[in-house]
Amino acid sequence: MLSADPPEFFDEGSPCGVLTVEPLDRVLDYLAPAGGAWLGAFVEVPLGPRRVLGVVWGPAEGSFPRNKLRAAIRVLDAVPMRAELRAFLARVADYTLTPLPAMLRLATRVPDLGSGPAMRKLLYRGANLPARMTEAREKVLAVCDGFGGAGLTSGELAQAAGVSAGVVRGLVQAGALIEREAPRDQPYPRLDPARAGQSLTEDQSAAAVALRNGVAGRSYGTTLLKGVTGSGKTEVYLEAVAECLAQRRQALVLLPEIALSAEFLTRVEARFGARPAEWHSGVTLSERRRCWHMVGRGEAQLVVGARSALFLPFRDLGLIVVDEEHDSSYKQEEGVLYNARDMAVLRAAMGEAQVILASATPSLETWANASVGKYARLDLAARFGPNELPQMRAIDLRAEEMPTSRWISPSLQSAVTARIAAGEQALLFLNRRGYAPLTVCRACGHQIECSECDARMVEHRFLRRLVCHQCGASRSIPEACPSCGAQDRLAPVGPGVERLEEEARALWPEARVAVLSSDLFGTARALKEQIAAIAEGEADIIIGTQIVAKGHNFPVLTLVGVIDADLGLSGSDLRAAERVFQLVRQVSGRAGRAEKPGVALIQTSQPEHPVIRAILSGAEEEFWRSEAAQRKSLGMPPFGRLAGVVISAPALEPAFALGIELARADGPLREIGAQVFGPAPAPIARIRGRHRVRLLVKAPKSAGLQAAISDWLQPHKLKGDLRLSVDIDPQSFF
Ligand code: ADP
Ligand code: ZN
Repeated sequence: MLSADPPEFFDEGSPCGVLTVEPLDRVLDYLAPAGGAWLGAFVEVPLGPRRVLGVVWGPAEGSFPRNKLRAAIRVLDAVPMRAELRAFLARVADYTLTPLPAMLRLATRVPDLGSGPAMRKLLYRGANLPARMTEAREKVLAVCDGFGGAGLTSGELAQAAGVSAGVVRGLVQAGALIEREAPRDQPYPRLDPARAGQSLTEDQSAAAVALRNGVAGRSYGTTLLKGVTGSGKTEVYLEAVAECLAQRRQALVLLPEIALSAEFLTRVEARFGARPAEWHSGVTLSERRRCWHMVGRGEAQLVVGARSALFLPFRDLGLIVVDEEHDSSYKQEEGVLYNARDMAVLRAAMGEAQVILASATPSLETWANASVGKYARLDLAARFGPNELPQMRAIDLRAEEMPTSRWISPSLQSAVTARIAAGEQALLFLNRRGYAPLTVCRACGHQIECSECDARMVEHRFLRRLVCHQCGASRSIPEACPSCGAQDRLAPVGPGVERLEEEARALWPEARVAVLSSDLFGTARALKEQIAAIAEGEADIIIGTQIVAKGHNFPVLTLVGVIDADLGLSGSDLRAAERVFQLVRQVSGRAGRAEKPGVALIQTSQPEHPVIRAILSGAEEEFWRSEAAQRKSLGMPPFGRLAGVVISAPALEPAFALGIELARADGPLREIGAQVFGPAPAPIARIRGRHRVRLLVKAPKSAGLQAAISDWLQPHKLKGDLRLSVDIDPQSFF
């Protein structure tokens, strides 16, 4: 859509093409507003009776007579979107088959873009005391003193003092408070890349030098930084960040579960002398605004963020680190379906930047790209310091005496008991939230399902409710079976972390037990505090879902017990083996991070299963090679390509009918050697009352998949309540 050589500036009243955030399939022509507009300028334009946000995207399309064009209302106070970001949004739109306006919405998710004034009025303590002093006035002045020279707006001041706005106004009139104009968004404190980092081991410093050289070269390159947990990957990639800052380019570090990553921010502060900018759902609106604008002006040197930080308007992005690159949360599963890890590589390639993909257990995609030389690869083989990797052992559940409704085997029990006696911590890992995954009537066998989804309700005893993990709907636990009416015959089946907690409390009544599960905490901060308390040693037994697998440091944790390693192995999911391998290795890596050696005990009923054997032996390269060989023989990713198509509607029949119509009209797909499978009911056949039908497209690697899919779908219009979404490179198949 960008022409080869568009004008850089549009004079007032001259036609220009504007991309708006409204769901229209084309760029609209407007006359440039008063003062003219730069290419890329953020503008407000009239659309019907409304005013909407847009970006000057290129020359006018010219399909509309000039004398009928409306004028853009005004240019907003923000740095114009650079050509690099406009081109990146267009490429991601093409790649993910997303309409461009939806991409623009992703890139403008900043509060009151341009509508707020650039300057605002701050109040400072004046020299005078008011002639009449009241309790309320005293409170305000005390707050002012507490903030020293920083200044606050009248609204902030009134709120902090707990008084009305009138009290603050009165103090201004009395001359006790002085008003001054100040820039609305404060710059970030400078990070100093010249400060010394830790002294690195030989391995670490070889890796750091290679990464620094890459960044100094100011060209594109992607490197897999593979190292066991605790090997110092973070320490090493912070060296690359230092180089990037020294080059006066900006750096971005993406983290999964960023809201929990207090530890990382502290490390950045220790390394560079100040905290970085943050971009994720846990920061306040004014911080988001500040981050977005400062990034655009080149005044935020380092951003630490969640996946959407990839769409920030960097002035000159030189490095993107994707930490825990295998993490499935990098894939956005709603709205624009993109994988931030892959799009990071795309953005870097378009902007002469470096990418570092860090992981102890890389995704098969990344492993394969490194083994064919598309990505460079650096390995950190050993943990930092004297501590060894944990010993891994299987507990064969077939040989254990396990009473029903018990999940901790006698062998695991005695190992935990020994750790507690030694004053150390044990972690019991079960990747299932709630109390029990299933509630069954013992009289008639009925299972309680969500009324809106094709999914079972999960009992959450902590909340005293049954919850649907698909749509979030919840209901109280009924006393009578909704099917046969029998009283008090509903029983929980299977374990969740809450039930495991009950078992642990019964086995170790004296021990302090802490449960870490995302749904048990109202806020990220509460969860963060709990994690910090555990790290301080304020628990003997930790029971957790996969959030414990993610990079937290628990120094006195020496035993990890995996309750059910088989969970997930039986699924038909393409990545089932890969996921189990990654998760169990990651969780096991939590054991023995400080001085004491660790042990990981893996409960399984199939110790001879190849995945379990690979987990235990640590023969990683072998595991990846055999996974890769299997996928290759099936033409599956990363050796072939997939796209998922989900059609949904309130009724099943029209969704299926469209699916059949599409499957029959597969000409454009066959032309590129692709096959279409389905339609079939999706694994979760109904969500939020909508029936879901799935098609799967499988194509050879080199095929022009997106173009073929567009040609294939284009003739079929969506009638009535039908919705269709395409997921390129799907991660999950729900
Ligand atoms: P990873 O990211 O691979 O899990 P980290 O970078 O978090 O590893 O390092 C693990 C721990 O070891 C951290 O507490 C880190 O500060 C420490 N560490 C790693 N390398 C060094 C080093 N060269 N000097 C001092 N401490 C180090
Ligand atoms: Zn539901």
